[in-house]
Amino acid sequence: MIRIAVDGPGGAGKSSLAKAVAKKLGIIYVDTGALYRTIGLYILGKGIDPKDKDAVVGELGNFTLDLSFVDGVQVILLDGKDVGDSIRTPEVSMAASAVSAIPEIREFLLNTQRNIAKKNSVIMDGRDIGTVILPDAEIKIFLTASAEARAKRRYDELVARGQSVSYEQVYNEMVERDTNDSTRAVAPCVPAADSILLDNSKLTADGTVKAVLKIVKKFKKKINGRGYMFLRALLKPFFKFFCHIKVSGKENIPREGGYMLCPNHIAIRDVFLLGVSCPRPIKFIAKKELFSVPILSSVIKALGAVRLDRKGGDVAALKASVNLIKKGNAVAIFPQGHRHPGVNPAGTPVHNGAGLIAYRAECDVIPVCIKTKKNKYRIFRRVDIIFGKPIPYSELGFEKGGSDEYKAVTERIFGEILALGGFEKDAEVQKENN
Ligand code: C5P
Repeated sequence: MIRIAVDGPGGAGKSSLAKAVAKKLGIIYVDTGALYRTIGLYILGKGIDPKDKDAVVGELGNFTLDLSFVDGVQVILLDGKDVGDSIRTPEVSMAASAVSAIPEIREFLLNTQRNIAKKNSVIMDGRDIGTVILPDAEIKIFLTASAEARAKRRYDELVARGQSVSYEQVYNEMVERDTNDSTRAVAPCVPAADSILLDNSKLTADGTVKAVLKIVKKFKKKINGRGYMFLRALLKPFFKFFCHIKVSGKENIPREGGYMLCPNHIAIRDVFLLGVSCPRPIKFIAKKELFSVPILSSVIKALGAVRLDRKGGDVAALKASVNLIKKGNAVAIFPQGHRHPGVNPAGTPVHNGAGLIAYRAECDVIPVCIKTKKNKYRIFRRVDIIFGKPIPYSELGFEKGGSDEYKAVTERIFGEILALGGFEKDAEVQKENN
């Protein structure tokens, strides 16, 4: 999952930029200014002065405001009616600026904005997205340009829409809005400390989009790890040749967002087989000792393994895994905890770690079955890697947490792994293996 916050003063081109980037990345564009504009529109319609704080706050609860997306396009319903372009007038701009300085109004819109970004990859533009709404956004851009350049763009935009305005009027109102927005006591329009400043006074709209896509690309590379992709490309033919990997269910792997992959565990090479079979990078938790084995240590590091110091106990591994998932990584956790070299994993013991991590990370789980053909897991023997459908967090069956629940959930996940491999029916084979 990726959340991109775009803040900056009016007329900097945030919405055109965000729209274009959203389209390119296939994510949702959330125009938060439109929410304030809608309240401004409502207040004006009621004949209330938008600067009259008590009167504005008194209206909260008297109207409904719903935000939805139709074919990726944001639609705002005020009392059930689509506001459309009626919020794009200079009067409404000024009213939006006035009502947005009222803390109760900002509070009223806070969750509407946050909830969208909880479930979707978004690019969200506004004034306080990087500082207040999405302080954990993966990418924060503060887009700005000189007041003259911004006023000229806004003026052209309004004229193109058939509105009769003068450049001076647009310029003066823009400067007034800038002052209101950047000096107000609550959520002023200022760059977040970790934002990237982008001044596009001399850039075209296309140039601005390109600059942001470059930032996104750089971020994705960092997340995916160049070393990972390089090694994956190098190891794939090797493992395909020696292990005859047959992968199925790749379509079940979400390309974005944090979740847990739960495979059965036969041998160390499972880590590599999964790494080369999964269409997106996977992070593993590996014992500290493996990091001191020459060559292997470089390989597992490049493959994104996370060092587990056994002295730190399982708590350290748990925290590392939960953090990785929350940051949007795919993390593999073996429910069996240890390797079980037999062909049929049915009947092998499971720990409660997978359930516990899913509970803490509140993540979906993808069961994965690693299945060997004959009795031994050997070179030149076919290996099936079967990715199952994600089990949504809400369907894992957690109620209040606790070790019994973690164990039950881990067993349920393990049951799915067995079902993927068609193992549940022939648990007898397990006895033959051991
Ligand atoms: O971005 P746009 O010009 O549509 O925003 C209208 C007004 O809404 C802004 O002048 C600003 O006062 C307010 N706003 C805000 N916080 C946001 C988005 C917009 O205060 N996140």
